[in-house]
Amino acid sequence: VYLLILGHDIHFQDKKIALLEAGPRKEYNRVPDSYSNRVSSISPGSATLLSSFGAWDHVCSLRFKPFRRMQVWDACSEAMIVFEKDDLDDMGYIVENDVIMSALTKQLDAVADRVEVFYRSRAVGYTWPLPSHSCDTSPWVQIELSDGRRLQTKLLIGADGHNSVVRKEAEIKNIEHRYDQSAVVATLHLSEATDNNVAWQRFLPTGPIALLPLSDTASSLVWSTSHEHASELLAMDEESFVDSINSAFWSNVNHSDFIDTAGAMFRSAISLLKPSGTAVRQLPPSVAEVDPESRAMFPLGMGHATEYVQHRVALIGDAAHRVHPLAGQGVNLGFGDTACLAHHLSAAAFSGRDLGSLKHLLKFETERQRHNVSLIAAIDVLKRLYSTRLAPLVLLRTWGLQATNALPPVKEQIMAFASK
Ligand SMILES: Cc1cc2nc3c(=O)[nH]c(=O)nc-3n(C[C@H](O)[C@H](O)[C@H](O)COP(=O)(O)OP(=O)(O)OC[C@H]3O[C@@H](n4cnc5c(N)ncnc54)[C@H](O)[C@@H]3O)c2cc1C
Repeated sequence: VYLLILGHDIHFQDKKIALLEAGPRKEYNRVPDSYSNRVSSISPGSATLLSSFGAWDHVCSLRFKPFRRMQVWDACSEAMIVFEKDDLDDMGYIVENDVIMSALTKQLDAVADRVEVFYRSRAVGYTWPLPSHSCDTSPWVQIELSDGRRLQTKLLIGADGHNSVVRKEAEIKNIEHRYDQSAVVATLHLSEATDNNVAWQRFLPTGPIALLPLSDTASSLVWSTSHEHASELLAMDEESFVDSINSAFWSNVNHSDFIDTAGAMFRSAISLLKPSGTAVRQLPPSVAEVDPESRAMFPLGMGHATEYVQHRVALIGDAAHRVHPLAGQGVNLGFGDTACLAHHLSAAAFSGRDLGSLKHLLKFETERQRHNVSLIAAIDVLKRLYSTRLAPLVLLRTWGLQATNALPPVKEQIMAFASK
């Protein structure tokens, strides 16, 4: 994304840009019949960013599913929150990761004269310049590839994922934590066709389960649960797997009379104060089948680099921050980083300044950390708050969710932040 923004930037016309990608080139002329099990919820802001250089048109010509409503609810109480737009605007889009990659690959071809892409090229070593270089060191970053080739650059962007070698080699500290959860993903077929334009998420004490629409009859599963349960879900036969999903969405086994009564009293008090503030509960669709071979699991964690930049280095995406998928924000945060970095580099190129200089890289870091840190912290608190059955905490989050659901201005602020 970053390369595409700069590839189209007039101030970068005389610059050479290279992309190193360890994996193969991924491009569809036609999407396969079955859906990929790796999908992302793309915010309207990210879709606008992809539109700005033509990639969103490719996504639309391949495959995507808009959703208009999001219903999130607690498995330990009746508390729920609904996000929906008053107008007919989309709240977001569920897109297969391979479709996004294909769209970006097609657009990279369009700027091939300015952006060189090296597929199946793994960077294996970096040599850093000293800030005020002496005569015997190069003022540029040297990069060694696995096939022995060497490249050098004035600015290295580390977009190499949460295990970023660029971050490690640059000795940038990363505050990280492995969650006690893995995410199980799968492609599911619904019992009957529906509009299927709602993203569903239920917080179980073991972790959130989400059903994201793919078509009128198919949805994608992201079920975060304990590592042991995730392994069991992967090993069980297809029928038991489907039963487990339906029961995770429908069962009230985690409810207690005390929380239900306290929640109902609070809800009626709110509706007396603010009769129009609550939204109607909808029932999630039931699942009939799982696509064979579509089940997979990923261990989850959070991480945040204490610095996003150093002399001649910048980190973006999961290399700079890793979040729990419960808010569907990982890709969107990365897209936000790229837009911000490209903006500051464009300004630097326009003024003829050194692109790898800390002066403007620090502006990028400040701007993005201000945005990212609060979101990363909020996602971490949500993960912890919902991973307990302790009655006082369940009551606290029940009242919190009911109150937030009854306050449209607060919900609008949350939606505005999440749609960036
Ligand atoms: C189960 C699950 C569900 C998720 N759902 C959502 C969602 O709904 N919405 C959302 O926004 N986010 C979601 N995320 C998060 C999202 O997947 C990540 O935030 C996103 O993939 C990070 O993108 P990235 O490009 O920074 O890193 P990566 O996707 O990890 O990409 C890193 C790239 O760098 C390349 N690379 C690595 N090392 C080298 C090297 N040495 N040389 C050359 N190339 C290299 C790799 O080949 C790879 O292509 C989810 C995550 C999980 C686990």
